[in-house]
Amino acid sequence: MITPVLPTYARADLEFVKGKGAWLTEADGSHFLDLASGIAVNSLGHAHPDLVKIIKSQAEKLWHVSNLYEIPQQRALAEILVENSFADTVFFTNSGTESCELAVKMARKYWFEKGYHDKFEIITFEGSFHGRSSAGIAATASEKMTKGFGPLLPGFLSINWNNHEAIKNSISDRTAAILLEPIQGEGGIRVVPEQCLKGIREFCDENKILLILDEVQCGVGRTGKLFAHEWAEIEPDIMMVAKGIGGGFPLGAVLAKENAASGMTTGTHGSTYGGNPLGCSIGLKVMDIISNPNFLLDVNHKAKNFRAGLSELLNKNTSIFEEVRGKGLMLGLKCKVQNIDVVNAGYSNKLLTVPAGDNVVRLLPPLTISDKEIKQALEKLDCVMTELS
Ligand SMILES: *Cc1c(COP(=O)(O)O)cnc(C)c1O
Repeated sequence: MITPVLPTYARADLEFVKGKGAWLTEADGSHFLDLASGIAVNSLGHAHPDLVKIIKSQAEKLWHVSNLYEIPQQRALAEILVENSFADTVFFTNSGTESCELAVKMARKYWFEKGYHDKFEIITFEGSFHGRSSAGIAATASEKMTKGFGPLLPGFLSINWNNHEAIKNSISDRTAAILLEPIQGEGGIRVVPEQCLKGIREFCDENKILLILDEVQCGVGRTGKLFAHEWAEIEPDIMMVAKGIGGGFPLGAVLAKENAASGMTTGTHGSTYGGNPLGCSIGLKVMDIISNPNFLLDVNHKAKNFRAGLSELLNKNTSIFEEVRGKGLMLGLKCKVQNIDVVNAGYSNKLLTVPAGDNVVRLLPPLTISDKEIKQALEKLDCVMTELS
């Protein structure tokens, strides 16, 4: 018999009742060190005091009003994002996949308004993940995501990852945009080298193609820069954000340059919840904290320690895993054993990690994790490796 909850998830036998910082607690009181962060969502850890304070005070004032009216919290969050990024304008959503929907619509509308009614194709990459809405799965294009859900939204072309020739060969008069994650999350913490991001930006400029970056997982401080593309010193035309920006509250955004956004005029897009006072007051607090250069310095410092510890661990355990990947606190262990065995052994050592594609185990701690907790994480990982040896 089907369960009351639609059985689409493979769940671990864990049930948490409380969280504080980088720790989650089960009803029996057992503590787990959280290197999952709700898959890069709890950027400031669990129950961050500033977020608790803002959610309480805003909840007492005003949760939701329609976008029929002015929303000062939304304006303020847009302003801080514009001030701290390439973007001139922001639209707020509730999730990554909704951000994907708008990014695709915005790119298509841009060309439509310029008189190019056949310029609609979006080039995407194998191993990517852009969400589970119709545009999201069409962009993701993996068999697992799309099988049985056809006919898919047309106008997407998925090509090999990290292959310059494939990019060159894929474009035509129909190409509207290239869409990619600077670091593939679900795909296995696959970092697009900075040189390649630069190259793709130049290629887009030369061929008059919009560049859309999906920073839903790698954005908002995760890599030690506010946005991951900053490492390559490039700017996209359109960027998708979600996950970390809400710190656990469902909030997403599409950031864009004025020109790229020019087709999105009054009445062309909207959202009931997106950008409401409660969500935006939380997002504003998250951005306030994470956009502080000292906060990002601290992320980089901790990331360096963590990485050094993982490299040591790698030297001792070359039969278990073969590579440490990623940037900042978006790290992956490329496994030689089954990645799910590592994740499960983590559970028995009270450590939460996340499996990803390419047989990788993801380590996505809260950005607020302490040096001491990183040491504890390394100790737990050491136990995991010993167990699997
Ligand atoms: C999680 C994720 C999405 C989808 O976000 P949802 O909030 O689950 O819709 C899209 N792109 C990337 C890179 C993601 O990691």
